[in-house]
Amino acid sequence: GEEDGDIDRLLAELDERIAGSVIRPQDPGYDDARAVWNGMIDLHPRAVARAGAVSDIDAVLDAARRSGLPLAVRGGGHNIAGHSSVEGGLVLDLGPLRSVEVDAERRLVTVGPGATLRDVDEATAPYGLAVPLGVISATGVAGLTLGGGVGWLTRSNGLSLDNLDSAEVVTASGEHVHASEEENPELFWGLRGGGGNFGVVSSFTFRARPLPAGVLGGNFFYRPEHWKGALGAFDRWTQDLPEEMNPITSFLVLPPEFDMGDAPWMVVGFAWSSENHEPGLELIERLRQDAPPDAEEVGPVPWLEWQSAMDSLFPKGSRGYWKNVSFSRLDEEAIDVLVGFASEVTWAGTGIDIHHMQGAFGRVPEEATAFPNRAAKYWLNIYGFWQDAAEDARLSEFARKAHASMQPFAEHGQYVNFLGAERGQDMTEAARQAYGPATYERLVALKNRFDPDNLFRLNHNIVPAPA
Ligand code: FAD
Repeated sequence: GEEDGDIDRLLAELDERIAGSVIRPQDPGYDDARAVWNGMIDLHPRAVARAGAVSDIDAVLDAARRSGLPLAVRGGGHNIAGHSSVEGGLVLDLGPLRSVEVDAERRLVTVGPGATLRDVDEATAPYGLAVPLGVISATGVAGLTLGGGVGWLTRSNGLSLDNLDSAEVVTASGEHVHASEEENPELFWGLRGGGGNFGVVSSFTFRARPLPAGVLGGNFFYRPEHWKGALGAFDRWTQDLPEEMNPITSFLVLPPEFDMGDAPWMVVGFAWSSENHEPGLELIERLRQDAPPDAEEVGPVPWLEWQSAMDSLFPKGSRGYWKNVSFSRLDEEAIDVLVGFASEVTWAGTGIDIHHMQGAFGRVPEEATAFPNRAAKYWLNIYGFWQDAAEDARLSEFARKAHASMQPFAEHGQYVNFLGAERGQDMTEAARQAYGPATYERLVALKNRFDPDNLFRLNHNIVPAPA
């Protein structure tokens, strides 16, 4: 690092040099610039460099190297652990770089590093195409994809990262590289699950799928006294479910605008992604017969509408602490545990999602990407989105407790994008646990090659271990 005055000069130079702008604590808009989605992350960076052009990435990385300031990289700013800000350091905010180009003929979609899910969906919808992304439209494509990307097309088409065709990367040394199955395949492997550990991705190219009519979507709502029966039916339903059916089962108290009262619901949400609705309707009827819902809504929904249907649950500035676990057994014992902690959630501000996996997601070989555990039938996420700081301790503790009670059923691996910040945790150990030992060792080898000085360390960090 350099002296304070030198750093100030360096930041002033950076401001001159980039197409975007450098925002410091004394500048108007600083509080806006430092804010991320998770309102619990209250960090004060030395400066936020808002990129105005892709070439700004080089200048900001150069400033980070020269100043020694710790560097945070921000796409959509939705990371729950707060990795896209840093106390006293430098934030590279890619938010303004939101271009989306659709090559309809080849079904390829090239996306800037600051684009949100909505940016992509709005650009592809007119062509009747969709990229498999997440479920809340303000989330950033960049972080979502580099960690995984689960949503309403995961069974039919895999994770967002499974649909990544190639990426342009600026490495720690400032090199510009193209990564795909053919070029730099090992880097391409690590980018798909290894997060921002290896460089700044300046552009993502995805394969899109046709989805001209949107989805046949719906929700079955169950009151607490029906949860055990409905979960049993859900497990039977998913024994041989065609992969065009993409279900996510949630437990939560819905906010007032949903007009569903103030008691908790189990909601089986589903998106049938084939244009032929008949088989989808038959499958839905099968679940309806096995576990009649207390309320329901089913029908064709345009993709853009479906992709933003839950947005109002998750306003920016919500306080977030999340935990996740993968498992495959949804037998009576597991159902008892799940229903036990899910029925404690009598407040709006905590949700529990069970993502049913398998299908296209499960067919990807384990070693093909750095995403952990393709074998699990379910990934469960316990997520908080409350507004009152006085609730931080209680609601974070609830997520920890619920997560702990699932451990008897847990399989290996954790989804890094659904992990909150743990204080005082050994980073190497946390990453090893998330990825599993084999994938972790392979990620370390890649880290040694592309970022031996750990410039990109604010993430689920793969700590370099040069030989
Ligand atoms: P950021 O906080 O900007 O970045 C996250 C991480 O990625 C940081 O470590 C950052 O350094 C790195 N990074 C960002 N951009 C780049 C880049 N261009 N190059 C290199 N590294 C980069 N996940 C799902 O899978 N499915 C969902 O449906 C889903 N829904 C969500 C809903 C909400 C309301 C929230 C808050 C999160 C949701 N997530 C979901 C989790 C989401 O995948 C992660 O929060 C993810 O980190 C968000 O990406 P971002 O770009 O917005 O985050």
